[in-house]
Amino acid sequence: MRRPLLIVVYWCIAFLLVDVLLLTSISKEGKDLEFSLHASIINLLIILTGMSFIRLITIQPGYLPQPSISVDFSDLTKDVHTKSSWVVCKSCSIFTSPSAKHCSICNRCLVRSRGHWLVTCVGPLNHKFLIQLLFWGTFFFVYTFFVAVQLPANYSSVLCVGLSLFSLLYLAYRLYLEVQHIRRAEEGVHVTLLHIFGRGNKIFWLFPCSSSTSSKPNIADM
Ligand SMILES: [Zn+2]
Ligand SMILES: [Zn+2]
Repeated sequence: MRRPLLIVVYWCIAFLLVDVLLLTSISKEGKDLEFSLHASIINLLIILTGMSFIRLITIQPGYLPQPSISVDFSDLTKDVHTKSSWVVCKSCSIFTSPSAKHCSICNRCLVRSRGHWLVTCVGPLNHKFLIQLLFWGTFFFVYTFFVAVQLPANYSSVLCVGLSLFSLLYLAYRLYLEVQHIRRAEEGVHVTLLHIFGRGNKIFWLFPCSSSTSSKPNIADM
């Protein structure tokens, strides 16, 4: 199995294992009200994380359109990139801006690319789902970590603590990188946030709902 798919399988197992082991341990404590509360919150967080992941990998990230007819750029010796002029991507056979990046895995060009992550490129149309995935995933493992450390020490609770701690550190680090990326953006934090999350109600920035409000790549970006 390819490495990205193995990582996806790992995350699916980590979420489900922590969910099942933790709720089984809580149910053995015999506290029905506590079990219902934790089960509701944990499963809600799993749904939000899972939906963010599904939206992330199923939405076209915003690849630049390719020409319907093949253009011959073979006389150019290299992909020329300067700060001020348009450039040619010979792989895609298109003119694009120096800020666009060509993904060698997807074999497509993307503006405002955040790179290729696991099984998909991250671009202007699905970037918000990556941030939501990292946010809700971190929230899930922080929550399960603090619930697990309060349970009696046994095989299940120790495994939950370890798995939650390892997972939350990785997701929190990735989330930190995204925050740093937004803070350092040349166009400013507010404009960058609008590019990523769109101009809709800010409450929807947290939820993996329609991406119709997300900004699409346009000529100004190119
Ligand atoms: Zn390209
Ligand atoms: Zn890619």
